[in-house]
Amino acid sequence: MTERPYVVDEMISAKSIAARIEELAREITREFGDTDKLVVVGLLRGSFVFIADLVRELNLPVEVDFLEASSYGDGMESSREVRILKDLRSPVEGRDVLVVEDIVDTGFTLSHVLRLLQSRAPRKLRTIALLDKPARREVALKADWTGFEIPDEFVVGYGVDFAQRNRNLPFIGKVRFPED
Ligand code: 5GP
Ligand code: MG
Ligand code: MG
Repeated sequence: MTERPYVVDEMISAKSIAARIEELAREITREFGDTDKLVVVGLLRGSFVFIADLVRELNLPVEVDFLEASSYGDGMESSREVRILKDLRSPVEGRDVLVVEDIVDTGFTLSHVLRLLQSRAPRKLRTIALLDKPARREVALKADWTGFEIPDEFVVGYGVDFAQRNRNLPFIGKVRFPED
């Protein structure tokens, strides 16, 4: 699969992403204005660039933690079975928590993670996804904040990979196989 040559066509520029993050950060800062210290939970690995840019725009005391859940492996389709590969370091009971996801696709990953975190009794639990593919949804769920709604295309860049490649692209692009 990785040997099959592909190209990446830009879909969302680095500039648009930065502008959207400023808007989202203002809303989130307002939402959590009364918190002592917000726990911002990045879902590894795809959200690492997004969370880095997002927390730097938040005008709030924040703690950053990570959780790794796996549903895709290295392929292009969700396995529908979500496993927790790395759990949070800190307890979230009674805390305000913001879960940061790269893409909501079928919805299995985020719904599994939310169920898990909800069972730990946070004071407030909210979610933000950079990208949303509503056409692909199998579990009814919407993040509290979404950066961009996109069509049913396989995307890479800005933290998001194809078989562990392209995470370092500064923009979001769509994968295209020229021979198709
Ligand atoms: P879901 O469980 O909602 O189907 O899938 C969520 C996860 O699958 C996302 O967090 C992301 O890591 C991965 N995913 C979904 N769509 C894409 C895509 O277009 N490109 C890549 N690289 N990963 C995706
Ligand atoms: Mg993800
Ligand atoms: Mg991946």
